[in-house]
Formats: sequence, C-alpha cells, structure tokens
Amino acid sequence: MKLTKSSKVVIIGGGFGGLAAAALLSCAGLSVQLLERNETLGGRARVWTENGFRFDMGPSWYLMPDIFEHFFKLCSQDVDTVLPTKRLSPSYRVYLAGSDAPVDMFSDTVRDGATLDRFFPGSSKSLTAYIKTSKSHYDRSLRSFMARNADTFFHYMTLATMRDGWGLPVLISMEKHLSKWFKNDTVRRFLAYQTLFLGNAPKETPGVFSAMNYVDFAMGVHYPDGGIGAIVTAMANIITKAGGTITTGADVSSIDVERGSARSVTLTDGRIIDADIVVANSDYHQVETVLLPKESQSLDQNYWSKKRPAPSAAILYLGIRGEAPMLEHHTLLFPDDWDLSFSELFHGHTLPTDPSIYVSCPSKTDPTVAPSGHTNLFILMPCPTGLTWTPELKRECTERLLDILEQSFSIDGVRERVVVQRFYCGEDFSNDYCAWLGNALGGQAHTLSQSSFMRPPARSRKVKNLFFVGAGTNPGIGMPMCLLSAEMLVKRLFKTGGPGLLKQLPHI
Ligand SMILES: Cc1cc2nc3c(=O)[nH]c(=O)nc-3n(C[C@H](O)[C@H](O)[C@H](O)COP(=O)(O)OP(=O)(O)OC[C@H]3O[C@@H](n4cnc5c(N)ncnc54)[C@H](O)[C@@H]3O)c2cc1C
Repeated sequence: MKLTKSSKVVIIGGGFGGLAAAALLSCAGLSVQLLERNETLGGRARVWTENGFRFDMGPSWYLMPDIFEHFFKLCSQDVDTVLPTKRLSPSYRVYLAGSDAPVDMFSDTVRDGATLDRFFPGSSKSLTAYIKTSKSHYDRSLRSFMARNADTFFHYMTLATMRDGWGLPVLISMEKHLSKWFKNDTVRRFLAYQTLFLGNAPKETPGVFSAMNYVDFAMGVHYPDGGIGAIVTAMANIITKAGGTITTGADVSSIDVERGSARSVTLTDGRIIDADIVVANSDYHQVETVLLPKESQSLDQNYWSKKRPAPSAAILYLGIRGEAPMLEHHTLLFPDDWDLSFSELFHGHTLPTDPSIYVSCPSKTDPTVAPSGHTNLFILMPCPTGLTWTPELKRECTERLLDILEQSFSIDGVRERVVVQRFYCGEDFSNDYCAWLGNALGGQAHTLSQSSFMRPPARSRKVKNLFFVGAGTNPGIGMPMCLLSAEMLVKRLFKTGGPGLLKQLPHI
C-alpha cells in the first residue's frame, strides 16, 4: 500500500483513538476525514453540559503526562501552552470500608510511605524500593513494548527487547507480585486498585502493570485547564488546522470491501464516503461482527464469546447546591470484602453487593464546572457487563448511589440539593458508542491473554487497508494508550520508527 498526499484516510469514530489518529495523520500531510456518529466528539470522553454544570462524562484521571506532552509535540504543539495542567494535591482520597477517617495520597513516596506505615510499619521502605522497580518497568515497557507494533511474539525477538523484557513480572499476577513486596492486605490495596483502570482484577492482571504504580505514585495525577473536554477540543483544533475534516452525526453502517480492500464506508443515511485507508476507532466487536461483510470478518462471534470485556459501570452525574467537604477531586471507597467485590464484578450477573466506588468532584479544583456555590460530581460503581437495565434496576441503582454519597461521604441531604441529575449505565454505553456488552472502558480487560500482541490486532487480517486504533486494540485501555495506538498507526503506515516513541512525525 503506497501512501501519497492524496491518499484518503477515513476514520470511523471520534473518541480519543480516532481524534489522535486524525491529528497525527493530518499533521503528517494525509487527507483525513473523521466520521463520528454522535453530535459531539470525544466518545467516552465526551462532555455533557446542563444548567451551568459541565461534566466530563468519562475519563477524569489525567495520568502519564509524558505521553500527552509527547503527542502534542509530534503535532508541533507545546502542551503547556495548548493544555496547561495542574498537579492535584492530594492526588486522591481513599475511604476504607468501616473507617470514617479518609486517607489522602499525594504521589510522593515519602509522604505516602509515612501514611502506609500507619497500616503496617516498614511499608515506606518497601514502597521506595518498589516504586524504583516500577519505574524501571515503566521505562522498559515504554522503550520496548508499549508503543511497538508487535503482531506476534516473534516481533519481540531482538536482543535489546529481550534485555528490556528480562525479569519483567509478566507471568505472575499483580496480586502475587505485590505480595512479594508488601505483607499487609490494606497496604497492598493502595497499589492494586489501579488494575480496575485496566478493566481487570489484581489476581488476573499481569504483574508487569506495576508500571502503573510508578505513574500514580511518582508522576502524579494532573488536571488540565478546562477538564478532559479541553483535550478533545485541542485535538479537534489540530485536525482542522492541519486540513482534516470532522463530520459529526455520521453513523457508519458498513465498511465496503472489494477484493480484500476497503473501498468506502456507507453511512446510515445512505451517504457513501470513498477511502484509500480506513481506520476504525469505533467498537472493535461492532466492526468485526456488523460493519464488515461476513467474508471479510476475521474475529467472529465465536472469538468474542471466549473473551472477557472490561467491566461496565453505573454512573450518576449530579449538580448539587452547596459543598461536599468530605470529597477531594478524586475520592475512592475501597470495598470491605476485596475478593468478593472483584468476583462479583467479573463473574456476577447483578449489581455488586460490595462494590468499589469512585467519586469525581472536579469543582474542588475547577470553578468553571459548576455555578458558584454548587458542586459538580459523579459517582461511579463498576458493574458486570451484560446486565439488563430495567427501569427498576436503574431506580434501585440510583438510590444506592445516593445512599452511598450520604452515608459513606457524609453529603447530607443530597437528594434535596440536586439541581441536575443524570444516570448512565451499560445500556447507554451500548446505545451511544455501540459498546460490546456495554463495557465502559472501550474493549477487552487486560488479562495476560488479552494484552500486548494477544489483543485484537491493529490491522485487519483480511482487509489489507483496514486499521484499528483506540482502547480495543494495542496497547489498550485509557487515554494515554489511545494516543499511543494512533502513533503506532503512523509508524505502521509510514513504515518508520523503532519499538519506542517516534522522535518526530514523518511527513508525506
Ligand atoms: C466512566 C469512565 C471513566 C474512565 N476513566 C478514565 C481515566 O480516568 N483515565 C483514562 O485514561 N481513561 C479512563 N477511562 C477509559 C477511557 O475513557 C477509554 O479507554 C478511552 O476514552 C477509549 O477511547 P476510544 O477512542 O478507544 O473509544 P471511544 O471513546 O468509545 O470512541 C469511539 C468512538 O466511535 C464512535 N462510533 C462507534 N460506532 C460508530 C459508527 N458506526 N460510526 C461512527 N462512529 C462510531 C463512538 O460514538 C465513539 O465516539 C474511563 C472510561 C469511562 C467510561
């Protein structure tokens, strides 16, 4: 496949992966058209505004600032100018079930170590050594694995990669890995809950994801001016400035394939858009089982039925009068029975009885997200995928979430203080983003057999000019990973770059 200036790239989906791909490919000089079925961009990272409240509907933790900086640099933009961020302090607050005293974490190993010592003396010493090792895991992963287009295990068979891979805890779980460093259950939870960000349980997530602990405990948790929606806007601006076009309200109903190549995509309103290259950011399962003609599908329903999706979620967005003093910008409630909560999440078929809870309260940091004297928050309960969301279940879940806000976070009279309220669940993820089984995070959970080269491939096995970006493919879930997936597409199309990050963007 030869790239030329007139090569027409059609990108299906304006989530993080699609926007990042459109931005990089437009800046690289290709002719790009992005098609998004919803009226607003961002996909799971969309913004909802109502009555003076502005909600980032999905991601709220801006982690891995190095990857954002690198992405904007590739697009010839200075991240500090287009997207100034502040580092949160504390990074987040944790409530342990059964305890009224919250614990604040600061992404500072000395300060956080002293906090963990309160649960188990000597934890601080372990934490310092552990985070040093996690940093090495992070650096080695980024250099050799995370941004590499590896379609099979054999792509890792180079001396440098084997050196970087040597000793990485790939074959043991996060839980086992952590238990080598920390003897106390509670302390381990502070380092294990991050596996939920990967859509998985600590027992089933490969230990190499301890790199996430370096991200969280050392790099810090940041917040961009204008919230996550500002990143979406910044990417859209890059695309249009570089000559790309963005069409919202454009719902793709099929990818049209002739002799093994995608020739066009057809929209539900009948429009046909010609393409030399098609990039799917839309749900991988939907592309393979609905958008492609049968003979061009390479991952059929049988494949998907053996895979585990990332969990779904029930979210209650609330604009309320007054303050919520017990919350920080990010607040977590750890479940009482840790194992039960994960088992209910991944193997249950109803609302979890003892869930982990996350509350995002950006009005703690950003006065522009709520009218003066009001609080903007959402409360999120991870839920199993595939639930049938009857009106009764939605009502029950809403009431439970309101109760949790009152009882666990001491937000008195929350029901009477509500100005704006919206409930969002698996059914909405399916309706809005065509999400496979209503999963919340954008693809398969990061188990060992669903990570790295075993994740759905970034290039179709049957349609030679069809590529994938976003959380459904490599490297996986989360905003920074979606940015990397777009960079990996550039490397693939331009046949350039090594296993790590690009030094500069190629140009046609
Ligand atoms: C509640 C929540 C909290 C999260 N928290 C964090 C966090 O704090 N930090 C973090 O880094 N990540 C977080 N994540 C994960 C992160 O948001 C996702 O991994 C990421 O946004 C996925 O982006 P994507 O581009 O792969 O997919 P999507 O965002 O789903 O984008 C795909 C796009 O394709 C569009 N589309 C689908 N089908 C079609 C079609 N047929 N035609 C046209 N368009 C179509 C969809 O409408 C959508 O806009 C969170 C996710 C959720 C839901």
